[in-house]
Amino acid sequence: MLPEFAWGDVKVYVAGHNGLVGSAIVRALKTAGVGEVIGYRSSELDLRDREATFTAISEAKPDIVIDAAAKVGGIMANSTYPVEFLRDNVLIQTNIMDAAHAIDIDRLLFLGSSCIYPRAATQPIRESSLMTGPLEPTNQAYAMAKISGIFYIEAHRTEYDRHWISAMPTNLYGPGDNFDLETSHVLPAFIRRFHEAKVSGAPSVTVWGTGSPRREFLHVDDLAAACLMLLQKYDSHETINVGLGDDMPIKELAETVAAAVGYEGTIQWDSSKPDGMPRKLLDTSRINDLGWFPQISLADGIASTYQWYLANNA
Ligand code: GDP
Repeated sequence: MLPEFAWGDVKVYVAGHNGLVGSAIVRALKTAGVGEVIGYRSSELDLRDREATFTAISEAKPDIVIDAAAKVGGIMANSTYPVEFLRDNVLIQTNIMDAAHAIDIDRLLFLGSSCIYPRAATQPIRESSLMTGPLEPTNQAYAMAKISGIFYIEAHRTEYDRHWISAMPTNLYGPGDNFDLETSHVLPAFIRRFHEAKVSGAPSVTVWGTGSPRREFLHVDDLAAACLMLLQKYDSHETINVGLGDDMPIKELAETVAAAVGYEGTIQWDSSKPDGMPRKLLDTSRINDLGWFPQISLADGIASTYQWYLANNA
């Protein structure tokens, strides 16, 4: 049986609390009136360092751990640095889980990504598609690390009866995103590219691939709400998808972001750059059955993320 708790009574360690996902979770926890929330900047704690991670977590003694720490990146970073994406993520998640186990933490949420599913998975992708076929090559290093994390969660449930769970979000965006054009995901890259082209008066903007792959985009505050709900209600060895239930071609996203930014030039497609997975729409019936639905429309989410970019990066 899953132990019940009130947010006001618990101390939560959010690994990766400064990242896109972690910072949204911290905002949601504070709104929920969490007893205490702890996080360490990467300059204070390198989660790849096993000893340092054990020391930090055993001194902090949280009641709940949320693992939102990962080396993440868009299609280029992922396919260019498979060594770092596999090694760093395995180290980070294994150290966090082993340290949590060592001090007997019974509630832990591990976050992965929709790229764990096979490239040719039936759409929309159900949780049961995991491990049923080959991965998309452009992000398989990251996916392999996350898949081993899901199995490590499951192993702790089986061997030690832990109430640990994992959740797999779709492509995320929002305030605090990475806008570096070499390493970012597509939505922040579009915000930056179209904004800079508008400011410089460039007649056209070149983006990657053919524009035909389809993606779904979930605002990170919707994911954070899902994480809090799952920690109170979900307790299964099977991972759970967190998505919008709706996707669009990258071409349509480009037009939507260009319009939101106010860029009126033309968009060119560089098909020498990879398209990646043709489609990865998540089946969200499992999380919807628990009562969670996304609240932030793509139009509102893009508008507010653009405002955040203007205030923080532009
Ligand atoms: P993915 O979902 O793992 O493939 O990650 P991305 O968000 O990096 O890329 C999604 C899709 O957007 C791919 O088909 C990319 O080729 C396409 N795309 C188009 N322009 C860009 C860009 O400027 N940056 C990124 N990251 N992707 C782009």
